[in-house]
Amino acid sequence: MNRRRIIVLGGGIAGLSTAHALALEGEVDVTLVEREPRHDAHSTGRSAEILRVAVDDPVTRALALETDRLLDDPRSAGLDAERLVERTGLIVLADAEPPWADDLGRRGLALRADAASLRDRVPNLRESADALRLEGRAHWIERGGRILGGPLVASLARSTRRAGATLVRSAGDAEVLVDAGRVRGVRLPSGQRLEADGVVVAAGAWSGPIARRLGLDLPLRTTRRHMFLSAPAPGGAAPPVVWDDDAAFYIRREGSRWGLSVCDVREAAPEAPLYPVTPGVQRLAAEALAAWVRGPGGAVPLEESWSGFRDLSPDDRPILGPDPRLPGLHWCCGLGGHGMTLSLGVGRAAASTVLGRPTELATQCTVGRFEFAPA
Ligand SMILES: Cc1cc2nc3c(=O)[nH]c(=O)nc-3n(C[C@H](O)[C@H](O)[C@H](O)COP(=O)(O)OP(=O)(O)OC[C@H]3O[C@@H](n4cnc5c(N)ncnc54)[C@H](O)[C@@H]3O)c2cc1C
Repeated sequence: MNRRRIIVLGGGIAGLSTAHALALEGEVDVTLVEREPRHDAHSTGRSAEILRVAVDDPVTRALALETDRLLDDPRSAGLDAERLVERTGLIVLADAEPPWADDLGRRGLALRADAASLRDRVPNLRESADALRLEGRAHWIERGGRILGGPLVASLARSTRRAGATLVRSAGDAEVLVDAGRVRGVRLPSGQRLEADGVVVAAGAWSGPIARRLGLDLPLRTTRRHMFLSAPAPGGAAPPVVWDDDAAFYIRREGSRWGLSVCDVREAAPEAPLYPVTPGVQRLAAEALAAWVRGPGGAVPLEESWSGFRDLSPDDRPILGPDPRLPGLHWCCGLGGHGMTLSLGVGRAAASTVLGRPTELATQCTVGRFEFAPA
């Protein structure tokens, strides 16, 4: 019998993780189509790379916990990298009880504490605590930290190829081919047709526009978020990430600098100019940095900035699996602000649906959970 051919459209972290998980199973022929010369040209290369399992939605949290476990042992996850995460730990500041606190507390993964008391209890915090404002109620999450995005992406690409998948650069937008009411593959800008039995759209912020071109409603909001790096400033090596949920601000060490975001959420469209930096957000970031970090000469200036897209679903849960409205079409999108944290778990879940053996988590991420007006 002929093997099924599956195309994964979009080679950021979602597409790479899906293609990798599919190729490892060895049951289908896998082709990953990415238009850019790099896998991290868009959101995947523009994230803060924070590993945060403290997520409100329980299904998204479970996917994050699975990824957290897989990142610990790259070899057993089929990856050739030695290390994929820097486990600095994560401090979440939140006065009210967050929806994840009980669950993570029960699993022994989050410890409620007074923020000031963490100074002497948390590794590598003492030297940076002088520079950081740590007040109020906090959660200490030892397993948080920084995902090593470059090594993760590079290892996924290598390991996917080694597992037998073909990686194709489309050098422009590839289109989903539909004929006689089902998906038949993709058409490259060169006009070449790649035939397939199924296409997994993992196109990040471009997934919504692809759905619209297919005449389908997909409840994704494209939003923009900014990230900033300070000039070199005091602080020790590898302190925990600090995320202030109440103030909507996070900060982590980046070498001798601080990386930070004011957690801005702005409606955006994935059209040129793709990545402007909004002066108002830059001002907010400079103010936040001044309030948080004290340099010897006063306020520490911002030195670098960038923005990127986050495709948000209404319930902050990815959209995975087959679309019953168009046979042969599958989704792996809506990773929102969690794409790096969900990476390997989402890839496995998406692959399980393509192979017809959906995991329990995958069944809770289908597009069928939303209501659509009849076509
Ligand atoms: C500022 C910022 C900070 C963030 N911080 C974090 C964080 O700390 N932790 C975390 O877990 N997540 C974070 N995120 C979220 C994370 O970056 C995203 O969820 C994740 O990168 C999304 O990956 P993706 O593969 O879905 O999208 P992308 O990385 O955008 O990949 C989609 C790919 O599809 C390709 N593509 C699209 N259309 C086509 C087409 N027609 N033909 C061929 N190729 C196509 C694109 O070229 C692109 O490479 C952050 C995001 C931003 C913007």
